[in-house]
Amino acid sequence: MSLFSRFISVLIIFPVLLLTACSTQSPSPEPQLVVMVSIDQLRADRLDPELPGGLGRLAREGFVFTNATLDHGLTNTCPGHVVMSSGRNPGKTGIPGNSYIDHVTGRERYCVDEPGSDNVVIGSDHTRSPAAITVSTFGDWLKDYSADSRVFSVSAKDRAAITLGGKEADGVYWYHSGTERFTTSAYYAEELPAYVAAFNGADAFEDGFASGFPETWEHPEGSLRVDDYVGEVTMNLRVSGHPLTRGEQRGNQIYFSPFIDDATGELARLVLAEEELGMRGSTDFLAVSYSATDTVGHLYGPFSAESEDALERLDRELGLMLDALDARFGDNYVLALSADHGVQALPEWLRDQDDLQCPVPGGRIEMNAFGKTVFGYLIQRFQIPPDRITDLIGMAAAGVTVNAAVAEEIGLDRAAVLVGLEAFLEAQPGIETVWTEAEIRQGESETARLYRNSWVDGKSGHLIVQSAEDCLIWRPEGTTHGSPYLYDRAVPLVFYGRNIGKGQSDAEAHSIDMAPTLGAAIGMPVPDGLDGAVRSEALRGSGQ
Ligand SMILES: [Zn+2]
Repeated sequence: MSLFSRFISVLIIFPVLLLTACSTQSPSPEPQLVVMVSIDQLRADRLDPELPGGLGRLAREGFVFTNATLDHGLTNTCPGHVVMSSGRNPGKTGIPGNSYIDHVTGRERYCVDEPGSDNVVIGSDHTRSPAAITVSTFGDWLKDYSADSRVFSVSAKDRAAITLGGKEADGVYWYHSGTERFTTSAYYAEELPAYVAAFNGADAFEDGFASGFPETWEHPEGSLRVDDYVGEVTMNLRVSGHPLTRGEQRGNQIYFSPFIDDATGELARLVLAEEELGMRGSTDFLAVSYSATDTVGHLYGPFSAESEDALERLDRELGLMLDALDARFGDNYVLALSADHGVQALPEWLRDQDDLQCPVPGGRIEMNAFGKTVFGYLIQRFQIPPDRITDLIGMAAAGVTVNAAVAEEIGLDRAAVLVGLEAFLEAQPGIETVWTEAEIRQGESETARLYRNSWVDGKSGHLIVQSAEDCLIWRPEGTTHGSPYLYDRAVPLVFYGRNIGKGQSDAEAHSIDMAPTLGAAIGMPVPDGLDGAVRSEALRGSGQ
């Protein structure tokens, strides 16, 4: 092309460009983006305004509820996430726990599976979908309110990404350690968008998201306790220099490290850019759930050197996220952050602090041995054929079930089995109480109310076992959550950005308040009958 013809084509194209710019650019919506951030397993006491990165910035510049809790008793990941997006307690969402026994089929179900359906995970053979969720969530409300709005969700965990994204999401991505890839299921898309496939690379560790990860995860000595601590899980070593990108377990090793948060954040920012979120004239929604504080926390406990490092790295990652949002939207976005649950400290640590309340020496009830004891009792007491015991008794996150059809088949008085099982469990050291459906429905205590809020007909266990405070029904090492105690239920709750004031409140607040408050911040009506409330004290111009 000659200089002259290039000049002419510029003359021709230039006015066209101007015209296009004028005719298609609609005014920016207010706000351009709603962001929901979940930190998997973050106790309220870990939100530290002194942190230099994004978490600290939110604590300093946002509106912080210092007395926020989950308003339900069964504190797992799946219910903890669905309450954020739905504004309802788990009992109303169809999600009592991470897993439950379907009372009709007697089969154990995972909260976001859909066996027998075509909603297969891309690159795998298992199903994932939001089929078990019985209510609408924030993304659905937004699409009803503004038809062009788009909804995306990213997490290392399928159950977090799906419960935050909901049924109508345009893209929901999570990490699958078996295939070392971020993926989705056919429920959401037939194939991964090219940019997600490129993020994965042909081999994530060669040319994909993990290619820059070091061989080992190095971290400093902790400020609270020594790196090598009794009770920590030995799987990936108990001391710094944890294996990361080498060996057959590398897909799993990165999942149990803070590096999975780096990948999650990077993919979320890729979604932001590639999907032009907030840039097409309507308010869009992006949910991000960071999982490493949970995966790391389970292995080493909340006061470990590993957890301290994971929090610092998360703080840095959230800084990158806020920088990216600032760069794209200025102050024209609104964000809320909470956690799906807290966690119990390692009983060994509590004991060394002289702070272990559990009556069982050492604070641990090893769950496999415990299960065997229970089965042994039932087999002997009710003459149950040993090969039918696991058909009769189901144990899942949502509680213990006694299958009616199996009981009838082997000629058992099911009611008597329930009574016997409850009494036996309640007599075990370290068990606070065992809840029956009637006790949960009619109980007047605060704990009964919390379990009522977790209750789903046909999915919740016939018996729900409540451990005594600080008693861990778990493996020989590591720790978990799931109880109604404050160490599992107290979580951070922060709002930030457009239409949000700066400040804090010690009023009782809950993670179910997230979705309605975000709705109010963007002027969007939310469904009637939510359990959560609009926290008007967080809204700018509320005069508080
Ligand atoms: Zn967990």
